[in-house]
Amino acid sequence: MKVLVINSGSSSIKYQVFDMKDETLLAKGLVERIGIEGSKITHTPIGGEKITKEVSIPDHKVGIKLLIEALLDDEHGVIKDLSEIKAVGHRVVHGGEKFSGSVLITDEVMVALRENIELAPLHNPPNIWGIEACQELMPNIPHIGVFDTAFHATLPDYAYMYALPYEYYEKYKIRRYGFHGTSHRYVSQRAAEIIGKSIEELKIITLHMGNGVSFAAVKNGKSIETTMGFTPLEGMVMGTRSGDIDPAIVTYLMDKENLTSKEVYNILNKKSGLLGLSGISNDMRDIQKEKAKGNSRARIAIEVFVHRAKKYIGAYAAIMGGLDALVFTAGIGENDELIRRDVCHGLEFLGIEFNDDVNNRVRAEEAILSKPSSRVKVLLVPTNEELMIARDTKEIVDRLDK
Ligand code: AMP
Repeated sequence: MKVLVINSGSSSIKYQVFDMKDETLLAKGLVERIGIEGSKITHTPIGGEKITKEVSIPDHKVGIKLLIEALLDDEHGVIKDLSEIKAVGHRVVHGGEKFSGSVLITDEVMVALRENIELAPLHNPPNIWGIEACQELMPNIPHIGVFDTAFHATLPDYAYMYALPYEYYEKYKIRRYGFHGTSHRYVSQRAAEIIGKSIEELKIITLHMGNGVSFAAVKNGKSIETTMGFTPLEGMVMGTRSGDIDPAIVTYLMDKENLTSKEVYNILNKKSGLLGLSGISNDMRDIQKEKAKGNSRARIAIEVFVHRAKKYIGAYAAIMGGLDALVFTAGIGENDELIRRDVCHGLEFLGIEFNDDVNNRVRAEEAILSKPSSRVKVLLVPTNEELMIARDTKEIVDRLDK
């Protein structure tokens, strides 16, 4: 069964095609700058040559049409006929309280997704455009929604409730949801497989460190706590997002700088985090380079990042009543050995014996970063959200066929 995986953002669509017979990736690509000048599609058949086509892409439907054309291309395509694609798996950022797992997208599901726009105004609309375009162009196959929030549906109420007047939870569903769930689910499962134990008996902290950063406490296979909250703004320091701050800063800044709520929201989401602290970049690579040259703002950005990571690791070990594995993933977690080292050094008291030799050698590949004698295993597991989406899609389609 061939499955197309779609991750539709506001101005881009990422896609991958898997043959689920043996979970091989056949092709991947990116439609960029939708609705903006300079739009293009980059298509890579695995093992083949990458092709780029610059063409006007005014909306998501044209983007999806182009990627279908690329998949069918005589020279660079991976299917002969569109009917070979048996299902499409769609990444959806916010499932709200309704979805605790992946679902077949029906008319009722679309209504619920539209209701969730209020909770994720930046993310859910482009997800919906992607689904609608695919449904129109591939109407006779199942479309499956895989939610970033779903893995965190197991958070207990005392972890997801904010200490606000209870009526705001009832009226507006203001609570913690958590995001990056597909990534936390994938890497925690892989970590258990690598360690060779059942996930049911493990206490794992997953550290998803990319441009967006979130951690999860995964106890017995279930997410019981995570750093992101009502929106993906809470928690860790990120590329451009502040993560945790004293909420009183919001009103203070509005008064002092005469800002609207939208302007403060923009500052916290787009101008803060590593970028705001360093004044250099939101990219950890640039900041590490400047730190090595002695730039003090680069140093402070990295130290705030590492300090907060340690703080959360300690907190999550405490709420789980112990720790068996710490898992690094995503852009920074997979590639930045200095961050991994700085986070793990000093955590010996938790039972972590970090293996610097291995850490210095590996990048973007599965590896055990702790010494064989380490009670807590430290792992590097490259994330693979697309494969997880394809697996969920296949599972649901198999169930439908029965
Ligand atoms: P992601 O959102 O998972 O694609 O991660 C993107 C982030 O990973 C970038 O913004 C970089 O900060 C970081 N990153 C990627 N490669 C490296 C690297 N070699 N060293 C440090 N950080 C990296």
